[in-house]
Amino acid sequence: MKILHVVGARPNFVKAAPVMRALDGRAEQQLVHTGQHQDPAMSRVFFEELGLPRPDLDLGVGYGAASAQTGRVLLRLGPRLERERPDACVVYGDVTSTLATALTAAQHDIPVAHVEAGLRSGDLAMPEERNRILTDRLAAWLFTPSTDANDNLAAEGVDPARIHLVGNVMVDTLRRLLPRTDAGPVLRRLHLSVEARFVLVTLHRPELVDDLTALGDVLRVLAEVATHWPVVFPVHPRTRARLDAAGWTGAGLRLTPPLGYLDFLSLEKAAALVITDSGGVQEETTWLGVPCLTVRNSTERPVTVTDGTNAVVGREPGRLRQAIEGALADGAPRRPSRKPDLWDGRAAKRITSVLLRGDEFHAAR
Ligand code: UDP
Repeated sequence: MKILHVVGARPNFVKAAPVMRALDGRAEQQLVHTGQHQDPAMSRVFFEELGLPRPDLDLGVGYGAASAQTGRVLLRLGPRLERERPDACVVYGDVTSTLATALTAAQHDIPVAHVEAGLRSGDLAMPEERNRILTDRLAAWLFTPSTDANDNLAAEGVDPARIHLVGNVMVDTLRRLLPRTDAGPVLRRLHLSVEARFVLVTLHRPELVDDLTALGDVLRVLAEVATHWPVVFPVHPRTRARLDAAGWTGAGLRLTPPLGYLDFLSLEKAAALVITDSGGVQEETTWLGVPCLTVRNSTERPVTVTDGTNAVVGREPGRLRQAIEGALADGAPRRPSRKPDLWDGRAAKRITSVLLRGDEFHAAR
């Protein structure tokens, strides 16, 4: 069986690595990088740390508007798919490259497998939500991370034969690499002691960082927090561009360029509190049992709230400040956290066993 994986952005690398490892030696595999994230801190470091093979093809689509990136994927991936005619094209998550690849594969009549299918925030204003829905419509195999995703797909009338509950591939990577984490070196680089009680922040969703008023409100709250607790903020390139344009200099926060996976996971594990708008970070903190506040009005990962450590607090400054102070107060109760079912480090193995089940495979076409 010939399987072509397509990745483009940071979270894709974390998800594709375990699937490629599980298929190693059991299928002919090719890896295509769309180039949506290109700079070394968002791409190369992940290939090195996660042990991903060098891509067979880099489409070089680069940063820019989603429509332009999608157009370039359609033009540049199509000929490769036509030449290789893989038995399956595997896409990951909800980024622009995910939908662009699914669309290209569909137009070349190549079956699509979607890893992390079925998640829904209910907020169609978010590009990621549109990417999720449309990719799921096109996919022959829908690999879901949690039962809520199965419920969402069932409610949309998706044929149950296409849906496979496999668990969370991000947890496969996290469990494999956790033994290699060590917060000491990265904390020292940030001039913090290993005992420091610190807050870790990531912000990059367009609906927040492209709205300068909302971003300014959140940053002002974080600057206040930073007068009491160290606030470490690895800044995503999209956010960096907005901050530079606004002339924002940091206001007491410890800013860093985006971190590699091992450094970031080391900090996540050691943080007293994580404040984020990332999907993957909500999941990782739930698995690690670290308190997380999500600066959004909704989440497509409700299991991190019902079972895990996540609270969706919105971005209204008063409410955000109160939630942060509550989480950091001395003796604040730690929310009990349960690892969701099948977040056990074996999701990629389950995906492999479905993909390699030949007869079902052909039936899915
Ligand atoms: N991550 C990282 N370095 C950072 C910030 C995040 O390695 O500076 C990792 C994080 O551990 C998780 C993934 O990137 O595995 C999440 O990606 P991102 O937040 O960009 O995307 P989302 O999950 O929101 O789609």
